[in-house]
Amino acid sequence: MEPKDSTNNQGFKGFTNENCPFLPCHSGVKREFNCLFCYCPLIAYDCPGPYEVFTDAQGVTRKDCTACTLPHDGYQASWAFIQKWLAKPVVWNGQPQHERYRRKARLKSEQMPD
Ligand code: SF4
Repeated sequence: MEPKDSTNNQGFKGFTNENCPFLPCHSGVKREFNCLFCYCPLIAYDCPGPYEVFTDAQGVTRKDCTACTLPHDGYQASWAFIQKWLAKPVVWNGQPQHERYRRKARLKSEQMPD
């Protein structure tokens, strides 16, 4: 096995599970759909995704990530995004997303063709 830092094979950065009955589970993905981060590694950390907050049946505050494409849009791009935000993880405090990130996501979706 080649060490990750010396291989030219980028296959570890993503894949698309064409057999998944839920594909595409998030709308708005423009590049290869990356299923590698199906369970987002940032779910318990601060992130720039446009999540909503809800309380589950056990009373736990959770993120609803339905509108987020960041861990899925392109193998290379989503890999780089996750690595960047995991480099200095900050535990999520259960608060709603900052308005600046929500605005950014809204602008991005308005720029998308129908
Ligand atoms: S909003 Fe996006 S980046 Fe943040 S935890 Fe959810 S899926 Fe991950």
